[in-house]
Parts: sequence; structure tokens; C-alpha cells
Amino acid sequence: MTTETATATAISVTNLRKSYGDLEAVRGIDLHVSQGEVFALLGPNGAGKTTTLEILEGHRERTAGEVSVLGHDPQRNERDFKDRIGIVLQDTGVERYLTVEEVIELFRGYYPHPLPRDQIIEMVGLEEKRTSLVRRLSSGQQRRLDVAIGLAGDPDLLFLDEPTTGFDPAARRNAWEMIKGLNAAGKTVFLTTHYMEEAQYLADRVAIIARGEIVAEGAPIDLIGREAITTISFEDPGDGPPPYPVSEFATLIDGRIVIETSGPTALLYALTSWATEHSVELEGLTVAPWTLEDVYLKLTADPELEEGPEAEQ
Ligand code: ATP
Repeated sequence: MTTETATATAISVTNLRKSYGDLEAVRGIDLHVSQGEVFALLGPNGAGKTTTLEILEGHRERTAGEVSVLGHDPQRNERDFKDRIGIVLQDTGVERYLTVEEVIELFRGYYPHPLPRDQIIEMVGLEEKRTSLVRRLSSGQQRRLDVAIGLAGDPDLLFLDEPTTGFDPAARRNAWEMIKGLNAAGKTVFLTTHYMEEAQYLADRVAIIARGEIVAEGAPIDLIGREAITTISFEDPGDGPPPYPVSEFATLIDGRIVIETSGPTALLYALTSWATEHSVELEGLTVAPWTLEDVYLKLTADPELEEGPEAEQ
């Protein structure tokens, strides 16, 4: 554990750039993560997440910009820096014929002040599997073991690259609780994910990166609130009834009428009044606030793939 306060800076990035030949993969991004936070970096394939993550971990050199992680420049690869961070890659690939305990012991040996083995096992919830061979673990359990390896040196900051990719819904929920527990135990967590629900549930703050630039940053609730949009949808009643009163706001998506509005109360009133008057049942009517996924899809939409503003009616 660190002696620094919970509000101290864990990661500070200013005008970070990374080019691979002619390709500018990261184009001048700024990031700030406080100690004690769970921070999620989100973005479509090829947006620059792994590049950024690996620069923060000290595994890739930047082209330009300032980077400070726990007060270190990761590029200098200092031993003290490496001892204070834990890295959970997408595929750790540990020795499959060792037991869970043996793997954890092996990695504890690399650090000057490792966490006690049993504490690590408890933190990742592998108590029942401690003597199992790695090859006998389920994929969710193997991912837990990956996290155990990341925790071996008792890091202040844990990097998790897509920690739940390929998990079934129950395993994902379990992993989320484990990550919450690690954060409650004082670890700062920096993660990448393609699951917006995961970011919304876990992250204090997120940054959305698209085409190498940060397009939004903030607490999920603030990003969603900023849009203040409600989606109303129902099955298309077909060509029988006359046009509904809200038709100018409506789009037809997969057989459903979808209306996005910042004034849902008046709109619903007009819609349901019209439906009652015309004896139309609005089948499958749903009213839902925007989610982080809606915000994400709007912000990361590729302008070249965007259709015109006029959606079909
Ligand atoms: P994904 O979600 O698919 O993992 P990502 O957001 O992590 O994507 P990066 O892996 O950072 O994206 O890649 C950003 C861009 O840089 C991509 O266009 C990728 O092809 C390119 N790129 C990444 N690594 C290299 C490399 N070593 N050499 C050349 N180009 C690279």
C-alpha cells in the first residue's frame, strides 16, 4: 500500500502521441487518473487503447508527450516503478502443468515485497482451486489467475486489458465483484474494455478514444446525463393507422419505431393519447434512458459510414 493520499495522481498524460511509420495511432491525448480510482479506457478496434496502455505500462515508447505513472516516466523502466504496478494482459499464457499455488509462488518470487500467497488467492476467489492444475481451470478461473499474477507484487496500480472478454454473464458479474473488491482494498485500476455495461458498473471515470483522440471523458453518469436523452420505442403498427403525432421524430429500426427525445413526458402523452383515441395498441412499448453504450456509439460513429440525417419512416 502507498502512503500517498487517495486523491494523489496515479497517472498523468499530456499531449501523448504515438506514430507507427506514417500512421498516427495516438494523436495528442490527455488523461488524468487519481489514486484509488477505477478508470476505463473505451474505444473501437484500432482506436489506440492498447498502444496507450502499453506506453503507460512501459512496454512501448511514445513519439511525443509527457507521461507520469506513480511519479515515474514508464519509459525509463525503473525497478521501483515495475514493483508498484501490476499488469494483466489479454493472454498471460502461464505454465499449464503447474498448480494455482505454484504459479502464484513463482510470480511472488519476482518481487521484493510480495503479497502473502493466501491473501492473493482469497482476493481473486480461487480458494477452492488452489491445488488444481492450470490446465484444469475454466477460462474464467484462468483469468482470475492472471489477475492473481498481476497482484503478486502488491501493486498500487493494476492494469487490466479487457479483463472479461469471452466470459459468460455470471462469470463476468463475479469478475466485476472481484475488481470492485481490489479497488476497495486500495488498488487503483486502469482497464480497457469493449463492454459498456462493464465500464458503467465499474468505472469512476471513463475516457472514450476514437481514431487516436479522446472524444469524451468523465463519470459515466455525467456522460449519460450530458445527453439527457430518452429512447421511446414500440413495434411498427404498420400502414393501417394514420401517422402518429410524433412521426417527425421517429425512425424505423428493425421493425420498431424509435424516438429519441429530451422531452419524453409530453411526447409520451401525445403518443399514448393518440393511440387510445385510435384504438391502437403500442405493442412492445419501452421507455429507457440513454446508456453509456448509446453515448459511446454516438461519439465513436465513423463519419464515413454514417447515413444521412433522414432516417426512413
Ligand atoms: P483493439 O480494440 O482492436 O485492441 P486498440 O484500440 O487497442 O484496438 P491499437 O492496438 O492501439 O488499438 O492500434 C491502434 C492503431 O495502431 C491501429 O491502426 C493498429 O493497426 C496500429 N498499430 C498498433 N500496433 C502497431 C505496430 N506495432 N506497428 C504498426 N501499427 C500498429
